[in-house]
Amino acid sequence: MKKFHLTILGANAAGPGYGRITSCQYLMYDNAAFLIDCGEACQIRISEYKLKANKINTICISHLHGDHCFGLPGLLTSFSNANRSKALTVIGPKGIKAFVDDIIAHTYSRINYPLSFIELDHSNQTEVVFTNDDFEVSAFPLKHRIPTYGYRFQEKAHQLNIKKEAIEKFQLSIPEIKKIKQGIDVIRNNKEIIKWQDSCINPSLPRSYSYCSDTVYDEDICKYISESQYLYHETTYLHELSHLAKERMHSTALEAGQIALKANVQNLIIGHYSSRYRKVDSLVEEASSVFTNVLKGYDGFMLDFPKIKVPSSS
Ligand SMILES: [Zn+2]
Ligand SMILES: [Zn+2]
Repeated sequence: MKKFHLTILGANAAGPGYGRITSCQYLMYDNAAFLIDCGEACQIRISEYKLKANKINTICISHLHGDHCFGLPGLLTSFSNANRSKALTVIGPKGIKAFVDDIIAHTYSRINYPLSFIELDHSNQTEVVFTNDDFEVSAFPLKHRIPTYGYRFQEKAHQLNIKKEAIEKFQLSIPEIKKIKQGIDVIRNNKEIIKWQDSCINPSLPRSYSYCSDTVYDEDICKYISESQYLYHETTYLHELSHLAKERMHSTALEAGQIALKANVQNLIIGHYSSRYRKVDSLVEEASSVFTNVLKGYDGFMLDFPKIKVPSSS
């Protein structure tokens, strides 16, 4: 199984507070890392958590509010100072390239490695922004005060391996083996069913992670994040401040729980906490009142995405 690992570098909203920095996450899949948002001090967190900056090949920025991108120019110039030669892609809303170019120009800095941008036009569509044989990343629109995107990181379905005993036991033909390797049951004479799960070695389902910050409560996003193994959803406020959440286009902990439930995800990680909350257990409790599997996001939160077992056929 490929490595699929998340480290949250920053879980605070707006500015740093109570030891939390602003939004930034480091997601490793196989041998390459994605940085999701890039709040100030992300470089300190990368070294503090002993993560490898040079593994980052793609940076996904949700939007151009400073708490999600003010760490980006510093990180990009540090790559130059470290003599990076590998290409890097920055994905974000329209304007991200001008933001970086202007700071580089005004500070007389240089980028010495191939740097490219994918700028997203605000639309109601999901857009694939990265793909290889095993993994795909898509961007989708969130509802916030300025154009904002969520990202879904999705493992592709892997080729199933068939058990030798199953071939002998069921006398499987080549077309039947092909079907089973695609996860399709074999049906003989309209009655004998050979379940693909019973014929494959350790079958598992593709793992996935969806990132939604910042956004007002919006059920429209459920179609993009549905069935995710883990969902990170912002919880800037407790629901007693739902009027503030609406006005500033953020979500409450209760609303994050409701979205997790409606999207039928397996686990919810919360974060993007307002600096009015020194402790965030009350936000976890509130989200847990509507959804069962709630995890508290915090700076230093680490997660190895576990294997998802195929439900038994019996
Ligand atoms: Zn924010
Ligand atoms: Zn924002």
